Amino acid sequence: MLCYECALDDRRQASAAVCTRCGIAVCTEHSAVTTVRPRRAIGLGTTTLGSPARLATCTTCR
Ligand SMILES: [Zn+2]
Ligand SMILES: [Zn+2]
Repeated sequence: MLCYECALDDRRQASAAVCTRCGIAVCTEHSAVTTVRPRRAIGLGTTTLGSPARLATCTTCR
């Protein structure tokens, strides 16, 4: 898949992520990645999982 933002500038750049908000494919130049600690309900409480998860967004949704 190609980066949508690069394609608008007539460039062909492979995408590295998909925006979690609008769903377009973006390259590393046009994406912002934040980390979150995933939480999961276990029994009556919640637990925070060990490894941080990544959330990628495009430059528009950042
Ligand atoms: Zn791009
Ligand atoms: Zn987006």
